[in-house]
Amino acid sequence: MQQVRAKKFLGQHFLTDLTVAQKIAETLTSGRTIEIGPGMGVLTQYLLKNSQIHLTAIEIDRESVVYLREWYPELDLVEGDFLKLDLDKLIPEGEFNVIGNYPYNISSQIFFKVLDYKDRIPVCSGMIQKEVAERLASKPGKKAYGILSVLLQAYYDIEYLFTVDEHVFNPPPKVKSAVIRMTRNKRRRLDCDEALFKTVVKTAFNQRRKQMRNSLRNLVESLKLKVESERLEWFLTRRPEQLSVEEFIELTNLIEKSHVGN
Ligand code: SAH
Repeated sequence: MQQVRAKKFLGQHFLTDLTVAQKIAETLTSGRTIEIGPGMGVLTQYLLKNSQIHLTAIEIDRESVVYLREWYPELDLVEGDFLKLDLDKLIPEGEFNVIGNYPYNISSQIFFKVLDYKDRIPVCSGMIQKEVAERLASKPGKKAYGILSVLLQAYYDIEYLFTVDEHVFNPPPKVKSAVIRMTRNKRRRLDCDEALFKTVVKTAFNQRRKQMRNSLRNLVESLKLKVESERLEWFLTRRPEQLSVEEFIELTNLIEKSHVGN
């Protein structure tokens, strides 16, 4: 059977190093699991070997699907776009983990979707661009710290596990890769309005180099806030990259508080 032709628009870079594939598969030990983008199944074969893992794979590429059905007839495989699939329909009950050597061109969108289902996803691991991995795991005060760092770290502990060279792929990507694991932390609910928290974080990072007085101006005005609190005043002089998750929660509460009573 012919190999699948790598298609750039689908972010297809097939992993050729079996040791790396096995190490990625071992970032999960058990449980209901979704693999995104199995491709030719390099990772899938190790996931299938683990009897503790109950696997469903989602692949968008017809050619890969045909290949996988031929080589892994036992695999529960869904042909479709992970970003468009209703995961509550796919797996109606319980928790599930997410794993993959992800399509790099949509990795951020994948993580935003994981956030949408965070209550059902205890662990999400896999390979992404090194630069994105650094962003997800970054602490405040670092250049890499951004929207996804704050939103994901609010709910997940993020481990940067190891770096992977571009030469173990076919075709090799232009960037280095890294394997990460995100494990849900104890924070079930944030101590603030979670939708407003998301808006505040996203709006604040629209102009990451500026004081939040600038980036949050529209938000403050559209909410008709009276900035009377000294603490809120202080926050507005900070830059978003300086704030920890806890401080973003506090800021969200201050914004909400000044909203009430207006
Ligand atoms: N896991 C394989 C392939 C990695 S390349 C390996 O390690 O070799 C990324 C894979 O994701 C490709 O197979 C690509 O077809 C698939 N893919 C791309 N976009 C997708 C989407 N929206 N939903 C599901 N799979 C997707």
